[in-house]
Amino acid sequence: MKSIVCGIDLGTTNSVIAFLKDGRPEAIPIEEGVAILPSVVSFEAENGGYVIGRQAKNRRAAFPDATITSIKRLMGKESVIAVGQQSLSPELISSYILKHLAERAAERLGQPINKVVITVPAYFDDAQRRATIRAGELAGLEVVRIVNEPTAAALVYDRVPSEADGDSPYVLVYDLGGGTFDVSVLEIKGEIKEVLASSGDTSLGGDDFDELLKEYLLGELREQIGGKALTEDPGLRVRLLDIAERTKMALSDRPYVKINEVAVTMREGRPLNLDLEVSRVQFESLTADLIDRTMNKVEEVLREAHLEPGEIGKLILVGGATRMPAVFEALSVLFEQPVEHSVDPDLCVALGAAIQGGLITGDAVGQILLDVTAHSLGLKTLDSVDHVTREPDYFSTIIRRNTRIPVSRAEAFRTAVDRQEGVKVEVFQGESLSCSENTLVGEFFYPLKPAPAYSPVVVEYAYDREGLVRICIDQKGFDNRKEVTLDIRNRKIDEASGGQPDETPVNYLAEKAGRLARDERLAESVRQEIEKIRVSYEEVVRSGEDESRVDDLEDQLLELIERAEEELESGE
Ligand code: AMP
Repeated sequence: MKSIVCGIDLGTTNSVIAFLKDGRPEAIPIEEGVAILPSVVSFEAENGGYVIGRQAKNRRAAFPDATITSIKRLMGKESVIAVGQQSLSPELISSYILKHLAERAAERLGQPINKVVITVPAYFDDAQRRATIRAGELAGLEVVRIVNEPTAAALVYDRVPSEADGDSPYVLVYDLGGGTFDVSVLEIKGEIKEVLASSGDTSLGGDDFDELLKEYLLGELREQIGGKALTEDPGLRVRLLDIAERTKMALSDRPYVKINEVAVTMREGRPLNLDLEVSRVQFESLTADLIDRTMNKVEEVLREAHLEPGEIGKLILVGGATRMPAVFEALSVLFEQPVEHSVDPDLCVALGAAIQGGLITGDAVGQILLDVTAHSLGLKTLDSVDHVTREPDYFSTIIRRNTRIPVSRAEAFRTAVDRQEGVKVEVFQGESLSCSENTLVGEFFYPLKPAPAYSPVVVEYAYDREGLVRICIDQKGFDNRKEVTLDIRNRKIDEASGGQPDETPVNYLAEKAGRLARDERLAESVRQEIEKIRVSYEEVVRSGEDESRVDDLEDQLLELIERAEEELESGE
């Protein structure tokens, strides 16, 4: 049997091992079907042994001195880590992680793993690279190559079909992990990827976002008890950090997250609960400085490479924390181009290392086909108007193109006027900021409960592999939820409503028809036809007798409205 060369991303927070299967890189599940292994080692005083990964992470609160995290930061330094009676080198501790990955992978693949490619940050110096090779050797592995992390990520995106591939040979890799931030500019010359410049901050990562949110939660908890001090409770800090991280992750997909945690600490013999809602807007304003710090580094690396933002051909996101929408937005503003995020940012580097392994052994490496959304999906909002029709035309994206499916994302929108009766939800797909240049894939009416202007409405799109999009629309603070399923491939819409019984869009349709019936730009015959149907429609709705007749008239009215609008548009 031909021996395989696995790729390993030996990360500060998490590590991943991958291999090439039929020419395509695949990450290998290590713990309970999950490929991401926390880079944590915890020593057990009882038997002199140690545990790795999630189990080790879970021991951290109870055994902080015996649990080693972020060992990567000490690689290549003359440090000695004292654990109980033992003194251990960073290389040795890293070797335990590597050994664990190789052993689990061997079990999965049913063959021993002897050879590996390991990735390191572009800024690692010679001593740090040598220490990484040594860690591999201590784990009983032959390190056939050390590869820069951004280079590994670029190797993956080389094989992902993309429309962003222009003529520019320059790629920028933005890597925001748990504890570190790295940004590099690469020049691609055929198979060779050269790091032109790299920068970063070894003490900035997703953990800092958790820390700021944790401090905010602590403040809220104090407020709940009338601003009094909380007694020192080490368990509370750990618990709040965990809640903060989970909340941060959920806020990447939705605009509001409810926190409802019981007994986060004890006060005067009674458990204290944490019960509040955090919005993405709040979280982003708490953490805006952190995003700015990364963007300063991006600008620094561009200066070093003597490049303008416009000269970068491709932007690649790596590291779990790049799932935060604020990262995407900051980069889109500076570079005015789409960001490549279709490959799981946690796995990308290991996948690239596996590709490098395949290239070394001469294995064919094929294209990477991903289950991603082919177009961005969003809806029409009021932010701008079409200059011809004077109708709102702004396309607000909910699920961006090239997002892995299945996926579910939600965004909050605001009503325009006091006591707004409802909204016509028009679902579009495409890449233009103007709906008129995108494709309408479905529309429906959503009646609103009386509320002041600017009250929030949350719209959630859940996109599955079959091309079905479930749209959930919810007027925040009211029991007013509507669910609609849209078949993107066949353009069919299926409405169902939760909470209150469905209401007919009578006011909306009648009002729109009435306006068109008075529009002198339309032919008199068309206006008469609209008015006739409108009157019958209102009568039938008022009598509330014949539901199928209401549906019929509604269809006729919608058709007439559409025709009239088309006529107006072509006549302008
Ligand atoms: P990495 O070191 O690349 O594994 O990244 C780990 C960091 O990514 C941690 O700080 C995680 O909290 C963060 N992370 C993972 N998933 C998400 C998400 N959906 N939204 C925001 N941060 C995330």
